[in-house]
Amino acid sequence: MLALAGRPLGARFRFLEPADDPPVGELGEVEKSPYDDPEALERFASGLDVVTYEFENVPVVAARELASRVSVHPAPQALDVAQDRWHEKETFRALGIPVAPCRRVDDQSGLASAVSEVGLPAVLKTRRLGYDGKGQAVLRSTEDLDPAWERLGGRPLILEAFVPFRRELSCLMVRSTTGETRVWPLVENRHQGGILRVSRVPALESREVTQAAEAHVGRLMDHLEYVGVLAVEFFETEEGLVANEMAPRVHNSGHWSQDGAETGQFENHIRAILGLPLGSTGIRDGWAGMVNLIGGIPPVEQILACPGARLHLYDKTPRRGRKVGHVNLSAPTRDALEERMARIEALARSFGEG
Ligand code: AMP
Repeated sequence: MLALAGRPLGARFRFLEPADDPPVGELGEVEKSPYDDPEALERFASGLDVVTYEFENVPVVAARELASRVSVHPAPQALDVAQDRWHEKETFRALGIPVAPCRRVDDQSGLASAVSEVGLPAVLKTRRLGYDGKGQAVLRSTEDLDPAWERLGGRPLILEAFVPFRRELSCLMVRSTTGETRVWPLVENRHQGGILRVSRVPALESREVTQAAEAHVGRLMDHLEYVGVLAVEFFETEEGLVANEMAPRVHNSGHWSQDGAETGQFENHIRAILGLPLGSTGIRDGWAGMVNLIGGIPPVEQILACPGARLHLYDKTPRRGRKVGHVNLSAPTRDALEERMARIEALARSFGEG
């Protein structure tokens, strides 16, 4: 999607990809190699102006190796923070960004003491390589500790208090190499089983909430000397915002902006890393939303028959829990958006896990 947004701006792309037959094969040259092969990294970097990534589990050493040869945006230190939930929470706290009470868990007795400090319910998560609800267990009573340890133990973990949130919101901001910044309207997100299902804008939050979210993300950007799109996911609670996690990349909760904003996250990310003027992040048509297609693809003609629907398929084989595409929706009124989203959600559920 970055390449699709960058081609009309005159950018050309080369991809570093460990998997066979990647969907990006049609969009540019592919260097098929593991991320940590130094010769492949050298070949990959040769002749490039700038490197970026859209996956936060790229090894930091590979990003640093590339950064010794060519500009890498966002800088590898952003990856370093985002790859470890504990490091991430410590960074948030140091910057005055509120987080849920949490403790590191390094062994089984550490889990019991973390539970006695944080309390129940709580969420036990792997510090590294967790996404879409993988590597997580919700602990509701002390009986849940042993099974959770059995499943997740042996790896560095973090225990977080369960946050009784009203809603989940995300803030996406972009900063260019020139220092210019833009922010999209706050997004309201609904997750299920740890996987994002739908997003909608505007979230109709208060002015204080917007200001707080933007101030938090701005401080994080300054701290990380950030270039590109940065997404931060928040819980909205009675006491205000609590930060959950950051994504140093274009983010699923910003997919709506591809069609629903004057400039989408993919295009603004490319503009940012190339030092081009950023585009307006305003909503194009009043209301916008996105529905993820998970584990299956509904018939294309049924999706496109819905007014305002724009389909984006990823050329990935459907399997359980896998995001294989999304549908963006726009509408002039909130009621019209809700109606269109309900229609697409019903299709997503009947042909996948929606
Ligand atoms: P994460 O991988 O941390 O983004 O978690 C995925 C989803 O699980 C979040 O978007 C929430 O819906 C839920 N979740 C994660 N951590 C917590 C928490 N501490 N309290 C309540 N819900 C949570």
